[in-house]
Amino acid sequence: MICNNLSINEKGHLCFEGQDTVTLAKTYGTPLYLMDADRIRERCRTYQAAIRKAFGERANTLYASKAASFRAIYRIMMEEGMGVDVVSSGEIYTAFSVGFPMERAYFHSNNKTDADVAFAMEHGVGYFVVDNREELDAIEYFAQKKGIRQKVLLRLTPGIDPHTYEAVSTGKVDSKFGSAIETGQADEITAYALGLSHVELSGFHCHVGSQVFDSDIFLRSAAIMLHFVAEMKQKYGFVTRELDLGGGYGVRYLEEDPQIDIAQNIIKVGEAVKEQCSALGIELPDIRMEPGRSIVADAGMTLYTAGTVKRIPGYKNYVSVDGGMTDNPRYALYRSAYTVLLANRANDKGKTFRCSLVGRCCESGDILQENVELPADVTRGDLVAVLTTGAYNYSMSSNYNRIPRPPVVLLEQGGATVAVRRETFEDICRNDI
Ligand SMILES: *Cc1c(COP(=O)(O)O)cnc(C)c1O
Repeated sequence: MICNNLSINEKGHLCFEGQDTVTLAKTYGTPLYLMDADRIRERCRTYQAAIRKAFGERANTLYASKAASFRAIYRIMMEEGMGVDVVSSGEIYTAFSVGFPMERAYFHSNNKTDADVAFAMEHGVGYFVVDNREELDAIEYFAQKKGIRQKVLLRLTPGIDPHTYEAVSTGKVDSKFGSAIETGQADEITAYALGLSHVELSGFHCHVGSQVFDSDIFLRSAAIMLHFVAEMKQKYGFVTRELDLGGGYGVRYLEEDPQIDIAQNIIKVGEAVKEQCSALGIELPDIRMEPGRSIVADAGMTLYTAGTVKRIPGYKNYVSVDGGMTDNPRYALYRSAYTVLLANRANDKGKTFRCSLVGRCCESGDILQENVELPADVTRGDLVAVLTTGAYNYSMSSNYNRIPRPPVVLLEQGGATVAVRRETFEDICRNDI
């Protein structure tokens, strides 16, 4: 199977984290998000061990919480000693509400409003990852009012095209994120930050994109960043204390996707970075990495009940499920690939037919996946599993068509607990007057 937290039991039912998905679907209803907390913790520990081995004890991993953001996730990250990336006041609020140590929170976003800046400072966010000069002015203003010096990293674009999908590529010079090194704007904003009295420049950040499989991308962006660090030392006497190399390691959605050894990769980046630091005559900064997808993606699965099965002879077949783009908009957004199985008949090796797996929304684009092979006798009531949905599914979900969001059930050590309750119709109308 695509991931080792999947198995099939003697009844032919798909199991996740060793638990029978048919039983889970009966207990919690469908559609249903499952999250394997054991897997999430295992991934955190892999990153933490590797990053410390590669860069020393002061290095740390930040979980990019936009991948999956709800209270239980921040509790897990707190317990695992991780930092977190947050990208909005809503994520800050969620992390803060469970007592997450906010000095380990890094606040991203290309457009932080004044209200966001004030809110983040009130909640003790450790670092702002600054996108632009206007943001620096706002930080200076609010930090002065509060009588603090706010630590910041500057987000830079190293000018690398990670050859991933356009929509998730962020490190190119023409990106909406950060300041470009190539155009001299990174240098300018560094000088500007150094001149502010309530801003404490700790270092720099880059993130070249998502779903990156080529480790060379990280080596190249780290090299560009280190050259910049050396230049800033020479030009302004500025010593970079923190360097954030971003996230973006790819995960397997399909059997044919490559498998990357993340620990091995980080060690390789570590060797190159240490070598370059000594060649450039700079101290090794405290390194940060900020993976999102690769921490939670294969810890997730979505279960649906099949409904309408439509065969249009000579054209195509449709299998409709009781969820759709409201709980997983990624195919609609990026044509993302997913592996789909019949969870109640996972061993069924009979005749298959090719179909489009579609949702229940009033929208032709409400497609979960095209060209799915399911048993030819798939019928209303079968249980459909979409694998690897832990990242960017719940966090991108919506109430389009007034469809309530599914619950998130955490599987841990053979037990199951509800981490996010299923929305009710009352929830849907909560803010209606
Ligand atoms: C989205 C994002 C990440 C995480 O990317 P993944 O592909 O989920 O690992 C890290 N850093 C920044 C700045 C991001 O925007």
